[in-house]
Amino acid sequence: MKEENKLDKLDKIEKLSRYTKLAWDRGLTESTSGNMSIRIDNKIYTTPTFFVKHFITKDDFVELNLNKEKIKGDLEPSSEYKMHLKIYNERKDINCIFHAHPKWSMMYSVTSKKIPIRILPESIVLLGEIVYLPYKMPGTDEFADVFTEGLRNGSNVFVLANHGVTVCAKTIEGAYARLETLETCSYVSAVAGMFSGKEPIQISKDEASKFFRKLHMK
Ligand SMILES: [Zn+2]
Repeated sequence: MKEENKLDKLDKIEKLSRYTKLAWDRGLTESTSGNMSIRIDNKIYTTPTFFVKHFITKDDFVELNLNKEKIKGDLEPSSEYKMHLKIYNERKDINCIFHAHPKWSMMYSVTSKKIPIRILPESIVLLGEIVYLPYKMPGTDEFADVFTEGLRNGSNVFVLANHGVTVCAKTIEGAYARLETLETCSYVSAVAGMFSGKEPIQISKDEASKFFRKLHMK
């Protein structure tokens, strides 16, 4: 597969449609829930509202500009488009967003428990600081605005109370990997807790920073 920055616009939208279908097929979101988008040259391409993502193709994506205006597309954009625009307007380094309702992560979103990210090396590297956001009505300006502080602090992973999760990255692979890693981390820690009756054992902070250094990330 070609590097993402060498793909043209239609290739990128096609690629996002395949990763969106993959997320639905792997149970990372269900029914018509979730919405995915990509930024290409100051335009946003988002999944349409009320759409079962197993059937998505590149022709179903809706084109918007950064001023919330629809430019092209037969369908209506995702009802969460304000959240997508808020994220792209706040962070120039983000080009892809997955918002989804993965079941094990949502268990954490409906309790006060936090997802222990230091249980696996890949979750330490891919997730970073998770931001837990209070419940706000989906689709509203208020809902989009609660992301501001976390975005400004550089976070890319958000757990939304009584709702779902939103993950962001520079690339499609990066956003998809964050979503699936977050769900794996939630699953393993929840099931390990039930299995052992104890909190899962975490990798120490020292070991976690050593791993970061090995990967030249910090
Ligand atoms: Zn949602």
